[in-house]
Formats: sequence, C-alpha cells, structure tokens
Amino acid sequence: MKDLLVAPKKVKNRIIGHFQGSEPGPILVFFGGIHGNEPSGVQALEHVFKTLNKKSVTVKGSVYGILGNIPAILQKRRFLQKDLNRLWLKKEIERIKESKEEDRTHEEKELYELLVLINNLFDTHHEPFYFIDFHTTSSKTLPFITINDAMINRKFARLFPVPIILGIEEYLEGPLLSYINEFGYVTLGFESGQHATEEARTNSIAFFWLTMVYSGAIPKETVPAFDSYFKELKSSSANNMNFYEIRKRFAITPEDSFKMEPAFQSFQIIEKGTLLAHYNDEPVYAEKKSILFMPLYQPLGAEGYFIIKRIPKWILNMSASLRKVKADHLLTILPGVSWRDSSKKQLLVNLKVARFYSKAIFHLLGFRSRKIDQTHLVINNREKVAKNEMYKDSPWF
Ligand SMILES: [Zn+2]
Repeated sequence: MKDLLVAPKKVKNRIIGHFQGSEPGPILVFFGGIHGNEPSGVQALEHVFKTLNKKSVTVKGSVYGILGNIPAILQKRRFLQKDLNRLWLKKEIERIKESKEEDRTHEEKELYELLVLINNLFDTHHEPFYFIDFHTTSSKTLPFITINDAMINRKFARLFPVPIILGIEEYLEGPLLSYINEFGYVTLGFESGQHATEEARTNSIAFFWLTMVYSGAIPKETVPAFDSYFKELKSSSANNMNFYEIRKRFAITPEDSFKMEPAFQSFQIIEKGTLLAHYNDEPVYAEKKSILFMPLYQPLGAEGYFIIKRIPKWILNMSASLRKVKADHLLTILPGVSWRDSSKKQLLVNLKVARFYSKAIFHLLGFRSRKIDQTHLVINNREKVAKNEMYKDSPWF
C-alpha cells in the first residue's frame, strides 16, 4: 500500500486513527472537525479508534478517521479565513493546486492536504468507499443525515433511524462531500446534535458503529451494543425517519447583521407570522406554516436558517422507479432542455424557454441544479456518476 503520510508535513497528525482489517472489505473514511468549532465528531472518532484497537475483532476492509480544519480546531473556531466546507469547487481546487504554498490561506492549506490524502485513498483502494462527515449545529436539533440525491446514498442512509435531508447541494457551494460525490461514492453528512454536547458525541459514536455494521466491515454480533446504539439514535431523533427537501435558504453575508430569535430548533414547526429573526434590524416573519431547519446561533455562517418540507413516500417511490428505467432521457424532449455535452452528465436548461417547468420534475430523476447565469441552469445528474456496480454485492444494496 502506498504511504498515505507522504508529502505535506502535517498530514501525519491529521489521521485520528487507521484500522486495517485482516480481510478485504469496504473502505470507511470518517471526517471530524471540518468545522473547527464542532468537536463532537473528533472526540467520537478518538473514542472509537481506541475501542477498535483494544478489541480483537475481525474487521473487513479499512477504516480511517481524519481531522478536518486543524488550525481552526485548535482555536475552536468554525474557520479562520474561509469556510473549509465551501471551498471544494473544481475551479477553486485547480487554483489552489497551482498556487504557491506560502500564498495559500489557512483553509486553502488544509484543503490541499486533505486533497492529497483523499487522492491517495482513491489510488490505493478499489473496494467500495463510504465517506462520512461528522458535523453539529449551533441550534438544538434532532440528529439528521444530509445526502446528495443519488439512489445509493438514499438506500444506505435510510438504514439509519434518523431523518434525511435531500437537496442541500442546491443551496451550498463547495461542501467537501459534494466534491467526493462527483466520483460516485456513497457519501453521508451526519449532523449529530448541538455543538459540543454529550448527546452529539454519543450519537456520532453510535453512528460510527452502525456504519461499520451496515457497510459489512464488521458482523453485527461482534458489536454487543449495536441494539442500544440503534435505539439511542432512534430516540434522539424522536422516531423521525422521514425524508425532507430544502425549500428555502435565508442567505446572509458577513456584512449583514442577523440575529435569530432565541430557542428555535431544527425540525420545529413554525406558524405563519412567527417572528423568526432580525435581519439588518428588520424583523423577519415566517411566510407560512412550515418546518424550520438549522437556525443560526453562532457568529459565522452564510445561512440564517432554512425551511424544509417532508417528501411523501409515494414521491420517493416514484422517483426510484423512474430512475430505474432511466426516464431522464425523456427530459431532453422538453423545449429548452438539452444535454450540456456528450457525456450526458449535466442538463442545460434555458430559463427563457423552460422557466415554467417545476424543479420537482428534475429532482424526481436525480438532477440537482445550479444557476450558471441569468438565463441558464446547469443540472447535475447524480445517478449518472454513481458507482452502483461497486456496491451491488454490499449487504444493503
Ligand atoms: Zn459543520
């Protein structure tokens, strides 16, 4: 195996733990502390690797625990100069790769080191990958999963007894997992609770062991606490195993003043007219009865809050069936919709012609959009790149 610890000096400290199984199997990669003010994931990983190293169990495959934004973790800040979870855009990455080390910001240096590490993993392993990114939120919340909407992600995510949020990729630029998802691997973000709470830490530990079992890395019988981990997550998420879709993002910039009213929680139902926040000293009220998501209670962040909506089961089923028959090719019959290039990974939608189509049609078929200019949307097909073949022998597939 190629040495993972080559090149950047700090990479060595970046590995919280690495456990090499005795038989071939899945490659599990867990990240903690991509945001420096979210210690729970890091603590959970330190804890599970201690246990793994003590136990004499047979593990298949390989497990990695990786530190995210090290200088920010040391200072307990979300980031120092730029949000490390908003930098993973192709153009940005190319620019950072070409820049001189001394010209890079703190987070650009961190990105570069992580990139080297991830590329090394891609080069050295050819088994099914699972990338899990541990986060927490500034508000109280049920634990939840965020995924890019490929069927492999949905299938794997729904094994866990927590709610699942689809489509955050349309609202956030450059999260680490969207970058990794481009390669077609299973990727899950797990938000385990409120920053630095004991519950957030134990939920991450539970999530780790469930991932180990569900991916086939370790037999369920060898995790004696499996059932209690499952129950713990289930009760922590109040038995909520629904899928949700992001409907609205309240964007803010560093120049804005934004103050959320106290004591709101993620997944809280808010009535029309509820006073939510003050934005540049103007009151912000709920436009209609809806579900609040990730209200901001920390100084740094680009979203004041989100609004989410539950996705009915029949829609989830219909979209699974449509993807199976690859109905996406029918979309290009619509006026104003064409493939962006011959790879057929992206659709180009001319908004002058096609502004009346509901985004929902595209979502059903696994497409998620980004606006590239005033008149065009580019829509990525998550199914097209998904490495379904790779996972077909996995226990959950
Ligand atoms: Zn975070």
